Amino acid sequence: MPLKDLKTIEFGNEADFKKAFGEITKLLGKDRVSTDKDILEIHSTSSFSTHQATPDQRPQLVVYPSTTEEVSKIMSICYKHSVPVVAFGGGTSLEGHFTPTRGGVSIDFYNMGEIISILDDDLQAVVQPNVGWEELNEELANHNLFFPPDPGPGAKIGGMVGTSCSGTNAFRFGTVKDWIISLKVVLADGTVIKTRQRPMKSSAGYNLTGLFIGAEGTLGLVTEITVKLTPKPDNVSVGVFSFKTIEDSAKAVAKVVQSGIKPNAMELMDDVAMKCVNHSGETSRIWPEEQTLLFKFSGFTPRDASEQLKAVERIARAEGCTSVQLAVTPEDVDDLWAARKHALWAVQAFGGMNKRVWTTDVAVPISKLPDLVKDTRKDLDDTGLFSAVLGHVGDGNFHAIIVYEPEKIAIATAAVERMVDRAIALGGTCTGEHGVGLGKRHHLDHELGPEAVNTMRKIKLALDPKCLLNTDKVIQVDPNDKTILEAN
Ligand SMILES: Cc1cc2nc3c(=O)[nH]c(=O)nc-3n(C[C@H](O)[C@H](O)[C@H](O)COP(=O)(O)OP(=O)(O)OC[C@H]3O[C@@H](n4cnc5c(N)ncnc54)[C@H](O)[C@@H]3O)c2cc1C
Repeated sequence: MPLKDLKTIEFGNEADFKKAFGEITKLLGKDRVSTDKDILEIHSTSSFSTHQATPDQRPQLVVYPSTTEEVSKIMSICYKHSVPVVAFGGGTSLEGHFTPTRGGVSIDFYNMGEIISILDDDLQAVVQPNVGWEELNEELANHNLFFPPDPGPGAKIGGMVGTSCSGTNAFRFGTVKDWIISLKVVLADGTVIKTRQRPMKSSAGYNLTGLFIGAEGTLGLVTEITVKLTPKPDNVSVGVFSFKTIEDSAKAVAKVVQSGIKPNAMELMDDVAMKCVNHSGETSRIWPEEQTLLFKFSGFTPRDASEQLKAVERIARAEGCTSVQLAVTPEDVDDLWAARKHALWAVQAFGGMNKRVWTTDVAVPISKLPDLVKDTRKDLDDTGLFSAVLGHVGDGNFHAIIVYEPEKIAIATAAVERMVDRAIALGGTCTGEHGVGLGKRHHLDHELGPEAVNTMRKIKLALDPKCLLNTDKVIQVDPNDKTILEAN
């Protein structure tokens, strides 16, 4: 389905929108809909999104359903009146994912935050979309169980399915794709489907579960999720490994991955990121401000974890590691890891809160990581902008955080474009985990080829012929869409 063969999308007119809003308000009651200006604003963008919504990229109505049936009825109404709809979870996505480019309705899943059941014997849980990964893990700790995907603080499982997220635990445990067994989904016309039952494996038909993971709310709205669980890791410690050069640290990562040692996590933070973390005061200790790898270890016994540490240390020292410090107390481990998770905000605060922040990710095959990291760090230095590099490097996944004055957006944009081109040239991807949203949409043709993108368009139009669901995200479906050009 080439873009040139498609027509401009036509939504309902003002009267249609008014009718739809009236019917939804009647369905939910006045308390569960909002037209408050601040609420509309929150559902349009965030200070850390690469895409800042234009003044007309606001929902006209934010709605708070409580059940799958209500979501289904809302979609039936919107389908009847041709009103666009955007799903909203934790609002932590980074590429303009939930910006309502065509106005309409924002469905906020706030009232659907129940952990429906924890099935200890099957190592599974059934949750509503607004359950956060942090709160799920808090509850699971009482069962000595664990749900590994750990994206941004505040992210919800519906949104995590939306972006096909991962996080620091992906090296050992895999990404969210590996932890979803089945989904309940409301389609564009209000039809409700369950993608499969809950055996650990199934060959029954197309992989519909996989289709909705990473679809960013463009194919359907997820209203219930059955997730896999694993026993909670024991005897967790973190090794903080310092290196003279960032290239040495990336080489050490590749060597550890190739050796088959499986730490729970392997994170890169450059000297700038470490400085920002120290400055944020989030950790009780001050850490060396050097090119740093954080390795997380665990094991049945403390000895298992310390043997992994020794094996990694041998490799790291051979690649130029200059010092190793350990965080072993639960407090040290937790606050160091929390600081890593909050690094975006630490870098943003250090760079100047009056400036804009651009956080972006790419991923490459592990052997290409040292080249990518070295060339990107140099390129960013050459721009003269304040920036930090970090990433879940065990997966070849690498992030840059660039802080810039609004008038320097062209410099930041060009640096990000070069980083993406570099990753694709190395056999990689324009995004390892943040997703496409609006920010990475134009890279898909280059990375995947036009035929693959045309196939995605066919899937989109088969499931959402009126293009109501999160219009303009992931792939362009309107040949006359100028959304991205108007942005920022
Ligand atoms: C400080 C920080 C650190 C981060 N670290 C990581 C990281 O390590 N790894 C990582 O992968 N990401 C990371 N992120 C990005 C972000 O946390 C993830 O993209 C996360 O998965 C988004 O979840 P959310 O609930 O906030 O989704 P939202 O931002 O609310 O939505 C994301 C997308 O999913 C859609 N959506 C939301 N709910 C539903 C639903 N119920 N059904 C269908 N579609 C839906 C939305 O329309 C949107 O397109 C980070 C972000 C921040 C701010």
